[in-house]
Amino acid sequence: MMHCYSLQKSAEYHEQLKKYLPLGQHHNFAKPDSVMPVYYVKGKNSRLWDADGNEYLDLYAKFGAMFLGHGNKKLQDHLTFALENYPITDFSETDLKVCALFQRYVPCCEKIRFGLSGNEMVQNALRLARAYTKKRRFIKFEGHFHGSSDNILGGKTKNILAPIVCEDPDSVFYTEGRASGVLQDQVIQIPWNNIEILEKTLKSYGGDIAAVIMEPVNINGGSILPEEGYLQKVRSLCDQYGIVLIFDEVITGIHMGLGGAQACYDVTPDLCIMGKAISSGVVPVSVLMGKAEIMGLYEECRVSQGGTFNGYGIGMAAIKATFDILESDYTSIYHNMESCSDYLRKTLEDAAYRRGIPLVTQGPATCFSFHCSPHKVQSYGAVSDALFKRNEILRQCMLKYGILCCRTSRMYMNITICEADISFFEKRVQAALADAEKIISRLKLLDSFIDAPSYERT
Ligand code: PMP
Repeated sequence: MMHCYSLQKSAEYHEQLKKYLPLGQHHNFAKPDSVMPVYYVKGKNSRLWDADGNEYLDLYAKFGAMFLGHGNKKLQDHLTFALENYPITDFSETDLKVCALFQRYVPCCEKIRFGLSGNEMVQNALRLARAYTKKRRFIKFEGHFHGSSDNILGGKTKNILAPIVCEDPDSVFYTEGRASGVLQDQVIQIPWNNIEILEKTLKSYGGDIAAVIMEPVNINGGSILPEEGYLQKVRSLCDQYGIVLIFDEVITGIHMGLGGAQACYDVTPDLCIMGKAISSGVVPVSVLMGKAEIMGLYEECRVSQGGTFNGYGIGMAAIKATFDILESDYTSIYHNMESCSDYLRKTLEDAAYRRGIPLVTQGPATCFSFHCSPHKVQSYGAVSDALFKRNEILRQCMLKYGILCCRTSRMYMNITICEADISFFEKRVQAALADAEKIISRLKLLDSFIDAPSYERT
């Protein structure tokens, strides 16, 4: 029988840390994370160990940045070489190689610039788009996340006919201290995956729109795939209205292959951003890539991009190492992640079914989400408060039996995931679901769909 983990040392560490670090956390939004922070002391491949000696399967993967497994020896060798040989200055021998790699794989990459975070490169992309089009607003979509800057974090609209964004005090992304008026001045927000709404919005506001920005697969909204043909239609509407199409591939970049979602769906944006896993989470790096004509605004010095660490040697070495490792056995690496992911999804769905918890999984193999719902989530609006709570309860229960997953019920694969990890998952997920079922029933969170006639297992 599986026993729930004791997290005593983590709890003590957390209490100490709280004296210095607000909330004892490195980040927060308006609602704190419901999962208690665990203090990890060791990692190897897909596993982590905490200060109490508990072992975990890491499907959280540092928000999806950890992609080559913890303690990857080949990556360490590349980085050691770079640490010993690269001076701390502006260029190293890796710049050229890394630029050529992105250009080989990423369809929109005619020119490229480097930074440290996804957040900053999103802002650089928007600045380029505004300068290029000489227009001021951009369209973003409900449930898509593009960093925590004032002009892009959260906000809500009154309705589809009035899509200009204002503050939403009830949202997890509400914040005091935002520069006044930025949301209203810059942002139009509409539901994603609905081409009619985009068409209508562009008819009213097209003359004022510099950019349309989206996650080409809405991972942050619950791993929602684009409807058939949707991305192509958005592409042609952007062409028609002279709007810069920006794909935020901070998650999908390399999780869906080295060319990102744009290569998978054969739709080429004007600009795209990648980050997180491109350097496998060991050091921060992000990239902004795009059409030569738009990136050319940097060449003309019409648009600025700053950053002490842009193109820093260790960061470039980490990207080069990540690509080298993936290229060395590309097909079987991705194939392995896909089959492990399929197996984990099926195991989770079957175990939930046996416990009477309706549960679906959805999205790309390497970054899928589970939802304690009888139906796949087709839009961000479908993630009700009750569904969000059920997902969070299951996430908490899994943590107590050694299965870590990301906020908003996401599970990330890494290239070292293997059969032993699947068995680890199989052994523990039953116990986690048994606990989750008790809590969900006690809180009466199942009532809304317990009789749902459409919940059938195939
Ligand atoms: N875009 C997307 C799609 C993201 O998921 C994130 C972070 N979760 C960001 C941008 C911001 O990236 P960073 O945390 O590196 O600033």
